[in-house]
Amino acid sequence: MTSSPFALAIHGGAGVIERERLSAEEEAAIRADLDRALEAGYRVLRDGGSALDAAQAAVVALEESPRFNAGKGAVFDAEGRHELDASLMDGRTRRAGAVAGVATIRNPIKLAREVMEHSPHVMLIGAGAENFADTRPGIERVPNDWFDTDARHAQLLETQARERAEADAANLKGKYFGTVGAVALDMHGHLAAATSTGGMTNKKWGRVGDSPLIGCGTWADAHCAVSGTGWGEFFIRNAVAHDIAARIAYGGASLQEAADAVILRVVPESGGDGGAIAIDAQGNIALPFNTSGMYRGWIATDGSRGTAIFSS
Ligand code: ASP
Repeated sequence: MTSSPFALAIHGGAGVIERERLSAEEEAAIRADLDRALEAGYRVLRDGGSALDAAQAAVVALEESPRFNAGKGAVFDAEGRHELDASLMDGRTRRAGAVAGVATIRNPIKLAREVMEHSPHVMLIGAGAENFADTRPGIERVPNDWFDTDARHAQLLETQARERAEADAANLKGKYFGTVGAVALDMHGHLAAATSTGGMTNKKWGRVGDSPLIGCGTWADAHCAVSGTGWGEFFIRNAVAHDIAARIAYGGASLQEAADAVILRVVPESGGDGGAIAIDAQGNIALPFNTSGMYRGWIATDGSRGTAIFSS
C-alpha cells in the first residue's frame, strides 16, 4: 500500500438491511457497484483532480446503478412516479448547488453542479430546474419511467400495503435506504461532498428530504465534508451535516467524535435514524450509522480501500 495525500468515502444509503434477505449474489453486485463508484472518484483524485469532481464522479456512478435510490432505481412516490433530489458543496469556496423534485434528469448531481457553476442560485426545483437544464449542454433528460425498476415497484406496493394496515403510518423509521453520497479530500487539501436520492418510497405532496438541503444532508468547508442518509425529516430538524462540521470548527471535536455525537446520539434521541460519511482535511474518515446497515466504501490516505454493509 502506498501513501497518497487524498481520500474518499461513499455511501449507498443506510436503513434496515436484513442479512437474511440479502442473497450472496445481491451483496456481491452491490459491492461491485460501490467499487465502481470508488474507482470513478479515485481516478479523479489520483490524476490531481478536485475533491468536487471526485465526489461528483462517484455519485454519478452510483446514480447509474439500478441498485441504489438515486437516478436509475430511484424509489417511487405515491403517484407511481419519481422525483429526484441532489446537492453538492465545494469546501474550498463554500459554493453549493442543489436541485429538488426533478423528474426527467438522468443524473441530478450533474444538474446540481450546473446550478452551482452557471446560475446565480444555490437551489432550483421541479419544472424550473428542468427548464434550466435545457440551457446547459451535457444534461441528459429522460422520460420519468426510465428510472423504474421492478424491485422499487415491489417496494412501493409493499409500503402502500403496510401504510394501509398500520395505524401509525407516520413511523417511517428505517423504511428507506439507497440514497447515495460521496465525500472527498484531494491532493491540494480541499474537501467536497455530494448527495443524491429519490427520497422516500410513497412520498406525497412534493415532499423534499434532507439530501438537497445544504447543511442538512450535505456540507463541506475547510475542515470537513459530510453526506448523510436516513430519515430526512430528522436530518433537517437537526441540521445534521452542519452540526457535525460545527462541532469540529467551534467545539474542537475530532471528526469521529463529531460524527458519532450527531449520528449515534442527536439523531436517535430526537426519534430519527440513519448514517453519514465524513472526511476531514487530514484524510480521516468516519462512517457512523445507527441502523442495521449502511452501504459504504472508502479509500484511505494509506491507499487501503474497502466496502461494507453491516457493522461487523
Ligand atoms: N435522506 C433521504 C430522504 O429523506 C432518504 C435516504 O437517505 O435514504 O429523502
